[in-house]
Amino acid sequence: MKPSDPKANPHIEAMQAYTPGEQPQGGGWIKLNTNENPYPPSSKAVEAIRVALGDNGTLLRLYPSPDSTPLREAAARVHGYSPESIVAGNGSDDILNLLIRAYAGPGRSIGMLDPSYSLYPVLAAAQGAAVVKVPVKADYTFDVDAVAKCGASVFFLTNPNAPLGVAFAVERVIALAKVFPGLLVVDEAYVAFAGESCVDLPKQFPNVVVTRTLSKGHALAGLRAGYAICPLGVAAVLHRVRDSYNLDRLAQVAAAAALQDDAWLNETVGKITATRRRLMDALRGLGWKVNESSANFVLAEPVAKGGVASVQAAESAFEFLRSKKILVRRFPNHFLTEKALRITVGTDAEADALVAAAGVWTKG
Ligand code: PMP
Repeated sequence: MKPSDPKANPHIEAMQAYTPGEQPQGGGWIKLNTNENPYPPSSKAVEAIRVALGDNGTLLRLYPSPDSTPLREAAARVHGYSPESIVAGNGSDDILNLLIRAYAGPGRSIGMLDPSYSLYPVLAAAQGAAVVKVPVKADYTFDVDAVAKCGASVFFLTNPNAPLGVAFAVERVIALAKVFPGLLVVDEAYVAFAGESCVDLPKQFPNVVVTRTLSKGHALAGLRAGYAICPLGVAAVLHRVRDSYNLDRLAQVAAAAALQDDAWLNETVGKITATRRRLMDALRGLGWKVNESSANFVLAEPVAKGGVASVQAAESAFEFLRSKKILVRRFPNHFLTEKALRITVGTDAEADALVAAAGVWTKG
């Protein structure tokens, strides 16, 4: 018999992979499509990597700390927890995956706001878990009661929301934590650019986890480091199901150093939020409809001169920007985002180039 393509498990055969943002090849692109930080990371992170390599990289011979002790200790110090409450991940995507692996599966669904992060359904599908979507309301809040009653074993609350950019008030998250019967995960990937955080909730609620990434605020997307701040019971469960060495040596120490460099973070976030303001004002000046943003991106509906926001206008503006080598992102699958472009806040120069091209498109 001739060997043939092996069949994967039926639920894996049926699923689709996550679609990451485009990574353009060749130079000259202004890349504003995956919410990367435009500035180099803390020099303390880079120095930590140099030290961790050892002479000629000799320390790479050795396995890293299995539970990422350097990163967990730093995160514990920064947030006022014990290291036992912190679980490190190879990016916060790793943490999201672990949460679903441990708390969802056949007969135990995950829940999420719609729209929010499109990776959650992919991770759920890989574990054979169904997905319940609770709509974000037209006023950009969510219905606490609807989430509480959605039946999911684990609910992902992206806060600030992506791709909308809005932040939900901590008060509202607390109201939800009090009534949600499963595990509530507050995904704070973009919190560095927002006003408030739910970071203290895992101290008060045995059913709340907060996830963080070093990819956005700390400019370390290429490193892959994130972590969860957990009630002790949840932390123990996640340690049970994670890979034995899920972060490499370099990521552990660089993330630890970056987390503790407050001066760098404040300066960088200050620059990005100032550019965000300038970008939003300029796009509004062109007549585009722009959401308020608590993240390092803005969601903006292009409006051509004499026209209205529409799916066609968004497609047209996207293609025009692309022809000028400016890459942004479209989310055509939801009525709250289909007329919009999601634009990462880059440097002032990148924002100016975007606005100049947007101006040319707008005037036709
Ligand atoms: N959560 C949200 C809402 C995100 O947008 C992202 C980045 N795409 C992540 C988590 C994951 O970030 P990372 O894996 O780079 O830590």
